[in-house]
Amino acid sequence: PPGGGMESMVRKNASGYRIVLFPAPFQGHINPMFHLACLLHSRGFSITILHTNFNSPDPTNYPNYHFVSVPGGLTTSTDDVVALILSLNANYEAPFRAQMSRMRSERSGEPIACVVVDALLYSVQAVAKQLGLPTLVLRTGSAASFYMFAAFPLLWKRGYLPIQDSRLEVQVNELAPLRVRDLLRVEQSNPQKLRQLIEQVVEEARTSSAIIINTFVAIEGNELEKVREELSVPVFPIGPLHKLSPKTESSLMDQDHSCLDWLDKKHPRSVLYVSFGSLASMDGKELAEAAWGLANCQQPFLWVLRPGSIRGSAQIELPQGFEEETRGRGKIVKWAPQQQVLAHPAVGGFWTHNGWNSTVESMSEGIPMLCKPYFSDQMGNARYVSEVWKVGIQLENGLERGEIKSAIKRLMTEKEGDEMKRRARDLKEKAAQCVRKEGSSQVALDRLVDYVLSL
Ligand code: UDP
Repeated sequence: PPGGGMESMVRKNASGYRIVLFPAPFQGHINPMFHLACLLHSRGFSITILHTNFNSPDPTNYPNYHFVSVPGGLTTSTDDVVALILSLNANYEAPFRAQMSRMRSERSGEPIACVVVDALLYSVQAVAKQLGLPTLVLRTGSAASFYMFAAFPLLWKRGYLPIQDSRLEVQVNELAPLRVRDLLRVEQSNPQKLRQLIEQVVEEARTSSAIIINTFVAIEGNELEKVREELSVPVFPIGPLHKLSPKTESSLMDQDHSCLDWLDKKHPRSVLYVSFGSLASMDGKELAEAAWGLANCQQPFLWVLRPGSIRGSAQIELPQGFEEETRGRGKIVKWAPQQQVLAHPAVGGFWTHNGWNSTVESMSEGIPMLCKPYFSDQMGNARYVSEVWKVGIQLENGLERGEIKSAIKRLMTEKEGDEMKRRARDLKEKAAQCVRKEGSSQVALDRLVDYVLSL
C-alpha cells in the first residue's frame, strides 16, 4: 500500500485473524508455546490458548488472550512419560474435536488462521486437519532431535534401537556425533511404545502445514536442512524464542526471586547454577553424591531442588554436615526464575540436565555447561553441547562426588573452562544476531506470519 511496507500490510491483515495454540502440558513445552503466542500477538493476531485441565497456565497473566480449558485428564501415573504422552493423545482427541467444533460454530470472533499444536500431541493435530484447519507443529526440542525422530525406522532397521547396554558406545554414523547411548531413551518405558509414539509424531508433522522449531540457524543449520529434506514441509527456525519475545509468565511453579538478590552479592561469573528442569529425578544416593560434589568444590552455587525430585522420598534430605560445609556459599531454592538467573552477571556455569530449553537458555547467555542428562532427548543435547558446540563437559559415569568436583573445577576455574566460556560467548553473540532485525530468526518469523496469512 502507498507509504506502507510489507510489514504494515501484514500487521493490518493479521489483526483480522485468530491463532489457536495448544501446548503439551509440561513446563518445557508451555514456556516456548507462550513465547510464540506472544510473538504472534505482537504481530496482530488474536490468540486463543487451548490447554489441558491439569498443569493449566494462569490466564490472569495474559488478559488479552482467550483461554479454553479442554477436559480430558490422564489415565496413567506420571512415572512412565511415554505412557503419559500416549494417554494424553488418547484422552484429548475427542474433547479437542468438540471444543474446536464449538468455537467454529460460534459466529462471533475472527476466523481461525491456523492451529499451532505441540509436536507430541499428534492426535490433536490429526483432528485439526480433519476439521480442515491449517495445522502447524511446534517442536520445542532441537532440530537434531527431531531429525533423530525421523530416523527412527532406520535406527530400528540397522539395530541401533532398541538400545542394548552392550552397544552403548557404538557410533551412530548416520547421526554423527551421536553414539547409541545418546539416542532417545526413556528408562521406564517400553521401547515398542516409544517407537509407536515417535513414528506417530513424525507422521503428523509430515502432513502438517509447517514445523516451527525453537532453534537458530547459527547452531543447527545442517540439522534444519536435514529435517526439511526428510519431511518436505516448510520449517521455520524461530529461536531462541525467549529472546525474540518479550518476557512471559508461564511458570507452573512460583519462582523464588530471592536468589537474584543473593546473586547480586556474588563475584562476577563465580556462581555455578544447578538445575535439572521440571521432570528429571534422582535417587537418594545420587542426591548425596551431587551434594558432596558441590560441597567439596569450594565454588559458590545456586541449586534448584524441586519438591518431588528425589525418587522414593517426599522430603528432600541433604546429607548431614552439608549445610555447615556450604554456609554462605550455597543457596537452595525450590524453583528459580531461570532465564533471569542465567542472565545474571554472577553466574559462570550451569550444571544442567540439558532439557532443550535449558540448553538454549544457557547458550543465549553465554554460559558454559556441566551436562548430566537423564532421559529423552537430553543425552543427544548434551552430546551436541560437549562435542559440536564445545561449550560443556559431560559427566559420563553417573553421579560420583570426585568426578563432579573435578568437572566443576575444570569448567569454572581451569583453562579448558576458559575456552568453553569464550566459545559460549560466541554462541551468545550468534543467538543475539539471529534475533536482531534482519537476523535469521526474525526473518523466519516474518515469513511465518506471511505464510499463515496465505493459508
Ligand atoms: N525453569 C524455571 N525454573 C527452574 C528450572 C527451570 O523456570 O528452577 C524453566 C526453564 O527456564 C525452562 C523450563 O523450566 O524454560 C524447563 O525446560 P527444559 O526443556 O530445560 O527441561 P524439562 O523441564 O522439559 O525437562
